[in-house]
Amino acid sequence: MKKIGYFILAAAVLAALAAGVSATHESWEEKEYGILLAFDDYSADTWEQAFDLFDRYGVRATFFVNAAGPTEFCAEAEKRGHEIGFHTKSHVKLTDVSKEEFYEEAIAPIETFRKQGYAMTSFAYPYGEYEDWMNVELLKYYDTVRGAWHYKGYTKDGIRGSFVESMSIDNIHYETDEQFRRAMRENLEDLVKCDEGTVVSMFSHAIEEGDWCISPRRLEILFEEADRLDIKFYTFRELQG
Ligand SMILES: [Zn+2]
Repeated sequence: MKKIGYFILAAAVLAALAAGVSATHESWEEKEYGILLAFDDYSADTWEQAFDLFDRYGVRATFFVNAAGPTEFCAEAEKRGHEIGFHTKSHVKLTDVSKEEFYEEAIAPIETFRKQGYAMTSFAYPYGEYEDWMNVELLKYYDTVRGAWHYKGYTKDGIRGSFVESMSIDNIHYETDEQFRRAMRENLEDLVKCDEGTVVSMFSHAIEEGDWCISPRRLEILFEEADRLDIKFYTFRELQG
């Protein structure tokens, strides 16, 4: 019996190696719960001001940018271990444009990023609006495509090659910081009732006061609540490996 078990394990390792997948994951533990935290659009100044806050809690996030090519912010963010993802060149609603414009907005610009060393393997839909064929098309170019409507759990090995839903944690949804804390606590307590290793995706925009932003204080509340339950933060790219 032992021999058969060993053979199966060895075969699995060989299959993984043949597929170009490492048998062990360097950046994540299978059993750790996680949050894929993201910030959309482009708010380099407020994002940079939060870099130290991220570092204090060991948080790595994904910034889905609207840009024609990499900026100084992109370089600094990746240097600090964050990920740059794409959010179209000019934040168009992709369901409203022609197929040519879809390509120009969502796919063509990533070549400029890739030539300058950015992997650009993650994409988020502006306004969360899409049609099913777009997922198929985008996943030819990206490893993960992210939505913007729901709180949903995923297994870590389900992030690559997939559409992933995400929940907005913008200020507008919560009247007070205390209400925000209670909501995050509930969400995260639900998460740790799921199978071990489940991850969820959450997103906001600028890190400041304002309806469609998250205040630095609330961001810290999220970090505190995650820390309390031993939930880690991941970039999308970390789970695509
Ligand atoms: Zn957006």
